[in-house]
Amino acid sequence: MTVEPRPPPASWVREVAAAIRGECIPDAPMAPRTSIRVGGPADLLVRPEDRSTLPGMLAACACRGVPVLFLGGGANLLVADAGIRGVVARLPAEGDEEADGDRLVLAAGAPVSRLAQRALASGLVGCEFAAGIPGTLGGAVAMNAGTRIGEMKDVVERVEVATSEGLRWIPAPELGFAYRTCRLPPGAVVTRVGFRLRPGDVERSRAAMEADREHRRRTQPLTWPTWGSTFRNPPGDHAGRLVEAVGLKGHRIGNAMWSDLHANFVVNLGGATARDCLALIRLARERVRERIGVELELEVRLAGAFAADEHP
Ligand SMILES: Cc1cc2nc3c(=O)[nH]c(=O)nc-3n(C[C@H](O)[C@H](O)[C@H](O)COP(=O)(O)OP(=O)(O)OC[C@H]3O[C@@H](n4cnc5c(N)ncnc54)[C@H](O)[C@@H]3O)c2cc1C
Repeated sequence: MTVEPRPPPASWVREVAAAIRGECIPDAPMAPRTSIRVGGPADLLVRPEDRSTLPGMLAACACRGVPVLFLGGGANLLVADAGIRGVVARLPAEGDEEADGDRLVLAAGAPVSRLAQRALASGLVGCEFAAGIPGTLGGAVAMNAGTRIGEMKDVVERVEVATSEGLRWIPAPELGFAYRTCRLPPGAVVTRVGFRLRPGDVERSRAAMEADREHRRRTQPLTWPTWGSTFRNPPGDHAGRLVEAVGLKGHRIGNAMWSDLHANFVVNLGGATARDCLALIRLARERVRERIGVELELEVRLAGAFAADEHP
């Protein structure tokens, strides 16, 4: 694989770094920041100290034409081997939290598991689906993450977003939540999430969460680096069933493999490249299209500078 030589850091790196309170890491490796552990470096990774500094940073990027990617836990992301041009912003995991009756407000950079933890501690139920989903609450909103027993749209009441113009709250009905997607305003990053749950039987809720985690341990390749589901489930079917039906369960290209436990999961066997992963995706899409007549759509998000011949 040939990766283009990288140009020297542009002056925007210094200027954007100056516009933000927080940590700035030029040429930051992205592989360790994604759950599949694949991909090249970002020009500049920023970790804002708190959300109030984001509008200034976004304005500084916008006026220089610097693209910004928001990174959560990297649990559903494939980063190009050539890396990501521009800024990658990762919100702090800690932040103001509020609890008021059946309502919670949590930081978007907090892990999804924080929702379950806070709900149980507050005597609230209704978010059992979220207990075993990796990543952050901001990423879970952006993806409308969920399982067959529920999804974010069932429990999110409003989200706070930052844009170059400032911070504002958006009510959930305006977010266009749909299967594994939501419609955020262009360039907006979710900074806090407001949940509405309900009082209920906490012990029963805890048992449902543990049952879900146990089910995942049995059915998902959790001991390997992976991004979770690769394809969205087509209506009335399961993408994993289709990948298996065309003989690709356990199929390996380079150091990436369609999991032999769950055929919608790609696993990194050690040293996999984005090119390996994309070749697996392309092969599955082609076979499923030719043999079954179904067009599989990606659930995993692609980020960065992919070569034209790499696209799935
Ligand atoms: C083992 C495993 C099991 C999984 N099981 C499930 C499951 O059961 N159900 C499910 O839905 N998913 C599942 N996933 C996928 C993943 O956990 C979810 O998609 C999760 O919501 C991604 O969150 P993240 O913070 O890691 O987002 P990232 O992967 O970092 O980003 C995903 C997208 O969200 C955007 N984003 C991230 N943070 C923000 C923010 N603050 N504001 C705006 N946009 C943002 C990113 O730009 C990107 O487009 C699984 C993944 C793994 C590895």
